[in-house]
Amino acid sequence: MSDRDPQPVERQLPTEEARDLLSLVREIAHREIAPKAAEEEDAGRFPREVFTLLSESGLLGLPYDSEYGGGDQPYEVYLQVLEELATARLTVGLGVSVHTLAGYALAAYGTKEQQVEYLPAILGGGLLGAYCLSEPASGSDAASLRTRAVRDGDSWVINGTKAWITHGGIADFYTVMARTGGEGSHGITAFLVPGDAEGLSGAMPEKKMGMKGSPTAQVHFDDVRVLDDRRLGEEGQGFAIALSALDSGRLGIAACAIGLAQAALDEAVAYATGRRQFGHPISDFQGLRFMIADMATQIEAGRALYLAAARLRDAGRPFAKQAAMAKLHCTDTAMKVTTDAVQILGGYGYTADFPVERFMREAKVLQIVEGTNQIQRMVIARHVAGPESR
Ligand SMILES: Cc1cc2nc3c(=O)[nH]c(=O)nc-3n(C[C@H](O)[C@H](O)[C@H](O)COP(=O)(O)OP(=O)(O)OC[C@H]3O[C@@H](n4cnc5c(N)ncnc54)[C@H](O)[C@@H]3O)c2cc1C
Repeated sequence: MSDRDPQPVERQLPTEEARDLLSLVREIAHREIAPKAAEEEDAGRFPREVFTLLSESGLLGLPYDSEYGGGDQPYEVYLQVLEELATARLTVGLGVSVHTLAGYALAAYGTKEQQVEYLPAILGGGLLGAYCLSEPASGSDAASLRTRAVRDGDSWVINGTKAWITHGGIADFYTVMARTGGEGSHGITAFLVPGDAEGLSGAMPEKKMGMKGSPTAQVHFDDVRVLDDRRLGEEGQGFAIALSALDSGRLGIAACAIGLAQAALDEAVAYATGRRQFGHPISDFQGLRFMIADMATQIEAGRALYLAAARLRDAGRPFAKQAAMAKLHCTDTAMKVTTDAVQILGGYGYTADFPVERFMREAKVLQIVEGTNQIQRMVIARHVAGPESR
């Protein structure tokens, strides 16, 4: 409706290298990702070749150590890369975030030998990862998971079913939380399981409301045997590792949410400046101008919040509370902004001729993954008001 280009996002980046990196990402997003997003999401096609390109371009290991093939980038830069990818296509931004989450246990808790052996292929060798915490009967209450790993000589034998696994069935490696001890959070251990392990199989992907290009599937473990060399961290440390990974992962979700919201705002502004009613562009009407102003303000506030949390993380300071706040605020913002974008496009917004209806469907999942927004509020309240007394 309008040939008005979206205003570039004004970013605060710490180095010239980071500015070059963001330019490269924008170019890949513009050239390789955005043009196919609508068609491939409609067809439910996962763009594996994009992940290969991102890996070859050094973009799948950005926040990790360059000694193992990572990019040595601070979180504040990595997250802005995710934001740009998610603006082009959420399936890609979220996929990179999940891959980074899947590599965390090895990068943060693996032994030197494990890191030398397994990290380079994950950070820059074209592998794709998955993170396996949720199960059919344990979502928010993840510490009640039932997948079991039993020691057998120098190996572990894993049995059980993981649910809702992003990249389930197509991943090259799975970071799996399994029960090795008694009930509760202290009986859980983390394992790095290869995608081609005998006995590991992905179910048919779920039929979802949105993000149809991103496969989400149950993963079955049927006597899957891994050597003890694939145990990450100590026995019983798995749940602490999983939660620590999620603190960082939630920042990835927050950044993706802001990227998606930005895409919706850009579409809404382009449409509103081109569409005329009552002899004026609809962007002249105060009712819509105020909506646009609120959308832009919430996006900037979300970006500032996730960056503030990222800078705490980069400084080695505690950031779990701020990560939960960023996930909560940014994903609620994405839901609100994408819904408002549909409203601004009127009837056209409700059709697949424009991407905003897809953005609205995609936004919903961000309020659910990596801890629902109710769980984020519980985390925040515990930091602010202390633990519940019961
Ligand atoms: C597309 C998609 C991709 C996903 N990818 C992954 C993945 O890669 N790896 C992975 O491990 N998991 C993944 N998940 C799972 C996701 O993390 C869970 O869906 C989420 O944690 C919620 O669990 P649940 O669906 O079992 O809901 P439940 O835990 O059953 O919750 C149902 C409702 O009850 C609310 N609720 C639960 N407990 C409380 C409480 N104490 N107080 C207030 N409200 C509460 C919840 O907020 C929610 O509204 C994915 C999910 C989706 C939809």
